[in-house]
Amino acid sequence: MGKEGKVFRSRLYEINLKRGTAKLKNRVCPRCGRVMAFHKQPVPRWHCGYCSYVEIVRST
Ligand SMILES: [Zn+2]
Repeated sequence: MGKEGKVFRSRLYEINLKRGTAKLKNRVCPRCGRVMAFHKQPVPRWHCGYCSYVEIVRST
């Protein structure tokens, strides 16, 4: 196994195969306007480290 792998592929962009588009994954917090962080565990969600705003991501 290579030591770098392909982990960093498509971390910032979400590829939409149906539409053929790519959009920036990072969301902006609706409360304070800063960039939110995405966490997969325990549930997929966006979390704002500044004002603690959390938005749960629904998979379907
Ligand atoms: Zn915020």
